[in-house]
Amino acid sequence: MSLIPDDVIEQVRETADIVGIIGEHVELKRTGTDFRGPCPFHGGTHRNFAVIPRKGMFYCFVCHAGGDVFTFFMKKLGMDYPTAVREVARRVGITIPERGPSGPDPRDPLYSAVAVAADWFARQLRESPEAEVARQYLASRHFELDMLLPLGLGYAPRGGSAFLDAMKGLGLRDDVLLEAGLVAKREDGTVVPRFRGRLLFPIHDLRARAVAFGGRILGDGEPKYLNSPDTPIFHKGQLLYNLHVAKHAMRKAERAILVEGYFDVLRVSLAGIEEVVAPLGTGLTAEQAQLVKRHTAHVILLYDSDDAGLRATFRAGDELLRQGLRVSVATLPVGEDPDTLVQRHGATGLEALLKDAVDILERKVQILERKGFFGTLPGRRRALDRLLPTIRAAKDPITRELYISRAAEAAGVRKDVLEREVVGTTSTILHRPPPSSTVLPSNAEKALLLLLLEGEPWCSRVTEAVDPEEFEFAPYRAVFESVADDAVLALDDTSARAYEHLKAEGLGGRDPNEMYEVAVNWMEARRLERELQRLDDQLPFESPERQASLIAEKRRVFDELRKRYPRYKIAARRRGAPGT
Ligand SMILES: [Zn+2]
Repeated sequence: MSLIPDDVIEQVRETADIVGIIGEHVELKRTGTDFRGPCPFHGGTHRNFAVIPRKGMFYCFVCHAGGDVFTFFMKKLGMDYPTAVREVARRVGITIPERGPSGPDPRDPLYSAVAVAADWFARQLRESPEAEVARQYLASRHFELDMLLPLGLGYAPRGGSAFLDAMKGLGLRDDVLLEAGLVAKREDGTVVPRFRGRLLFPIHDLRARAVAFGGRILGDGEPKYLNSPDTPIFHKGQLLYNLHVAKHAMRKAERAILVEGYFDVLRVSLAGIEEVVAPLGTGLTAEQAQLVKRHTAHVILLYDSDDAGLRATFRAGDELLRQGLRVSVATLPVGEDPDTLVQRHGATGLEALLKDAVDILERKVQILERKGFFGTLPGRRRALDRLLPTIRAAKDPITRELYISRAAEAAGVRKDVLEREVVGTTSTILHRPPPSSTVLPSNAEKALLLLLLEGEPWCSRVTEAVDPEEFEFAPYRAVFESVADDAVLALDDTSARAYEHLKAEGLGGRDPNEMYEVAVNWMEARRLERELQRLDDQLPFESPERQASLIAEKRRVFDELRKRYPRYKIAARRRGAPGT
C-alpha cells in the first residue's frame, strides 16, 4: 500500500461518492445532513447505520463498525487496503499505476496495533463500568456520548493488566506495542500501559488511520494531557488533530480555524463547522503550518483571550505567516473558550465571531493601542519591537509591504526607516548600546537560555513559558528566537558570539529544575513589574474616579508581586508602595 501515493489516495477519497457507493449495499434514507439505513455488518433491521458525507465516514450505533469509504470495502468485502483503494479508484475513474515489486510497508504492524487498541479503548468508553467516570465527565461538559462515539473517543482503565491481557489475547506482541507507543518499559523490563485512567482522543494521519492518542486525565494527576510519544508512524510536530476530516472542509470553506485543544475541536466540529484543527499539545510547528497550507491559504486563530492565549496566538500566527499564509485572529469574550462560546451561542454565535476576525498585525496594533503604547516615544519604540517579529515573519511580499505601512503609520515613523529596520541593515531607530561580546549579563534571561540549549524537554518548557519580547538584552533575545525557530545560522556576529559562549558554559552541574523555577518566577515578576509601570504611566492622565480604580489595580498587582515572588527584588522600584 505504500506504493500508492498519498495524494492519489486523497484524490480517490475526495472524488468518491460515499453515499452512492455504500448505497449499493445498504438501503439509505436521508435524515438531516446524514443518511441512515440498516447495518450490513451486524445484520440489523433498524436504521442504526449512519453515513455522514460531510465527514466522509460511516458509523453503526449498535455494533460500532465505522470508517471511511475504503474501510467499508475492507470490512464488507474482505479487501485489503490497497485493493479497496483500487476498487474505489476504478469506480470514480482514477487510474492508479500498477503495483511495483517491493513488499508491504514494514510499519503495517504498528498501524494495526494502534487500530486494535483504539477499538478496545472505544469499547471501554461505551461499556465498561469503570468508564462511568469518563462518561460522567463528558456529560458534565455537555457532550453527548452518541455524538462522540463515531469520532472514536475511548477510555483507558486505571489498572495495568486489562489492556495488556486484551492486547495479548488479540495476538499483539509487547515489542510492537512498545514501538507503537502504547506501552512503556519499566527499569526491570516489564511493560505498563502508557495510558491509564484517561479519556483518549485518537489522532489520525492524513489517510484517516489512527496513529496515536491524546489522553486527558480524569480526576487528579499529572500531566493533564499526555500524548503518544513519537513513533515510526507518528510525529507530533507533523500532524494536527482532526486534519483528516478538516482538510476537505478547509478546501470548501477556503479557511482553516486553529484552536488550542481537543475539546475545542470537538465542539466546533459538532456545531457543523468542520474546518477546525488543533496542534497536539505543543506550539504550532513549521511542518504543521505547511500542512495547513496544502489545503487553504487563510487561517483564523481562535485561542483564549487571556495573556497565555494571546502569546500562543501570536507565536502560531508568526509561524503561519512564515509559510506565506494569510492570518486572522478571532477574539473571544474574556473568560470564554471556543467550547463554552458554542455551548452558549451556538454555531451562529461562532460564525459571527469568525466574521469579525481581524488581520493578525492589526490585532497586535489594537492591543498595543489599548495598552497605551503609542502615547509616548519610548512606548512607540517598544510597540515597534513587538510588531517587528510579525512583519519579519510575513513571507508574502505584499502582506509584508502592507504591514510595514500599517506599523509605520501606527507608530508615527517614516516608512523607509522601518523598512530598513525590518531587513536588519540598520539600527536607525534602535538606540541600544552595542553589547560586549565577552561580558554577558548573568540573570534570569541567561539561565533560561542555558536551559534552552540543553535540548528537550527544557527547550519546549522554556519556549512555552516565555516570549522573545520578554528578553531585554538584545543578543539574548536573538539567541532565544533563533533557537526557538531553529535558525541559529541566521544570527548576527554579536549574537552568534553570545550563542557560542552560552553553549560553552552549559549548566555546569546546576540543578535545571531549580534554575528553571527561579528564572521563570523572575520573568513573571518582571511582567508584573511592567504592569505596575504601565499603571504608573497612565495614572496622571485619568479622571479622579478612574485614578482611584487604577490605584486599586496597582495595589492588587503589587501585592501579587510581593506574595508570589518574594525572591524577586522590588528594589528597582522608585516610589515605594503603590498609590502613595
Ligand atoms: Zn452494526
